[in-house]
Amino acid sequence: MNDEELLRYSRHILLPELDVAGQQKLLDAGVLVVGLGGLGSAAALYLGASGVGRLVLADADRVELSNLQRQVIHATARLGQGKAESAAASLQALNPGVRVEVVAERIDAAALDRLVPGVSVVLDCSDNSATRRAINAACRRHGVALVSAAALGWEGQLAVFDARVPGTACYECLYPQGAGDDATSCAQNGIAAPVVGTMGVLQALQALKLISGAGEVAAGELLVFDGLALDFHRLRVRPRPDCPVCASSPRGSGFSRTLVHIMPDRCPAESGPTARSFYSRGSRSRMNGKRVTVERALAARSSICSGVAARK
Ligand SMILES: [Zn+2]
Repeated sequence: MNDEELLRYSRHILLPELDVAGQQKLLDAGVLVVGLGGLGSAAALYLGASGVGRLVLADADRVELSNLQRQVIHATARLGQGKAESAAASLQALNPGVRVEVVAERIDAAALDRLVPGVSVVLDCSDNSATRRAINAACRRHGVALVSAAALGWEGQLAVFDARVPGTACYECLYPQGAGDDATSCAQNGIAAPVVGTMGVLQALQALKLISGAGEVAAGELLVFDGLALDFHRLRVRPRPDCPVCASSPRGSGFSRTLVHIMPDRCPAESGPTARSFYSRGSRSRMNGKRVTVERALAARSSICSGVAARK
């Protein structure tokens, strides 16, 4: 690092968990951000400001007026411009030291096989289940950590799926194919702007920790955020033995291969309004047990979006 970089990143370097070595890891790292909507806007801005050396921005859409309520990396003056290109302009203005690559194409398996092996972490900031499944499968194929998030209405979700951690679930374990795919979107339901921003910032935080090695990322856990009640709830996601994506991966000895469900950290009956509203979508008859099968409840909520869907 030169003197300018030492000054720019001095507040990171002062953190003992990062220090010079951690900041250098960020400078040497590459992150793929798929989707430059509400999630990607917040995530990319914080990763760029943090000094992640190379950011690959993938989005085929264009900036529309209804995006600007929450997609803060874009600007009114750039309406009609490609989102990846618009985001790159903001990042270069914020931190010219970051190498930004624009991928203005639909992201499919072939594109992911080209892009994923070259990065340290992938951020799923997309708005549809087909892309989410493709990203999850590619991250498993190439052994790259995935930070997945979603937001809708006043609620958000966040999870790290890391193929390198034995016995941890993947996105497909949490949302099996066909489980209410894309039943809802921001376009029909609306989204509170700071909620999607919160989830995007948390994605950046998880990526920063994955790259630097600071702290814990709790791979295989689902964090559910209720913006109205201001409540966070954590759930452990169990790997499915029949998962078509990760079932052949090594399983950790600490995990049952027969129990396929999400286990709340505490009994939902004792939880606050967030958990109650969250679980109310599942079977009430199961809610008083210590272990609660809630994948159906989660599946109903799997159609989650970053805000990009509102373009329609
Ligand atoms: Zn899986």
